[in-house]
Amino acid sequence: PAFGRVLGYAADEITGKRCAENILVHVDDKGTQLCQEGCPASATLADGVVRQASVFLHHKQGHRIPVSVWVAPIRDENGAIIAAVEVFQDNTQSLALNRRVTELEQIALLDPLTGLANRRYIESHLKTCLDEWTRYYWPFGVLMLDLDHFKNINDTHGHATGDEVLKMVSRVLFSNLRSFDLAGRWGGEEFVVICLNVDRAQLLDLAERLRVLVQESSVPHAGGVRVTTSIGAASPRPGDSVQSILARADAMLYESKKAGRNRVTIDD
Ligand code: GH3
Ligand code: MG
Ligand code: MG
Repeated sequence: PAFGRVLGYAADEITGKRCAENILVHVDDKGTQLCQEGCPASATLADGVVRQASVFLHHKQGHRIPVSVWVAPIRDENGAIIAAVEVFQDNTQSLALNRRVTELEQIALLDPLTGLANRRYIESHLKTCLDEWTRYYWPFGVLMLDLDHFKNINDTHGHATGDEVLKMVSRVLFSNLRSFDLAGRWGGEEFVVICLNVDRAQLLDLAERLRVLVQESSVPHAGGVRVTTSIGAASPRPGDSVQSILARADAMLYESKKAGRNRVTIDD
């Protein structure tokens, strides 16, 4: 009934049909037909990742309705994905307000130099991840990164170039993470990455990939300056707080520095 109120269809008009059969025909805000390319439900059926998307659904009367969609997999006892559940929320009234809130959020939650999440945002996201892990056991991992000998870059090339290097590293992180992972600037030349739906081996892989990608990147207009990064990785443990998991990632980062820098250490 709730679905009918949002989209105008009665249950018997849609039960047993496919959404691409001229029913919902999701489009995104660029008009892309998501049934063909980028259906969030198909993606979740394929990889089991929980997704949120803002889409525009077809109302029975013909017009488009803005809707937030959450998709989660349903698994059998063996962990195999057997279905997905989609939850819709009508976004109509909230869109204009959301736009204004988004602007304010950006000011409050983003680091001005790099555009990444700031410390406050990281802490609040990490709290959410820990709560979800405690309640539903949704796995995640934390990386703490610290650029190596960054003071030398400032001393050799100047503070402005140092800033360019920080922005370059931010772009490396931002471009090479999945959309549901969060990269933030913890402060100075330190970054935190929170990765969702990863086990320990995948977390280590991801950290190693980021380490290599930072090493292989440079700032062209500053004479090709390069930097490396040391990384500490931590997975949640029962009883963890935001502080305790970050402290573990930081302790692992310290191990990476001690062992010679430009490397990854993970807690066990
Ligand atoms: P290590 O490998 O042990 O981490 O050495 P390091 O030189 O990276 O570490 P250290 O903590 O000695 O130096 C960090 C430097 O980062 C010092 C500080 O001036 C610089 N820094 C912090 N924030 C900024 C910033 O916003 N812009 C620039 N350009 N430099 C910054
Ligand atoms: Mg540091
Ligand atoms: Mg450093």
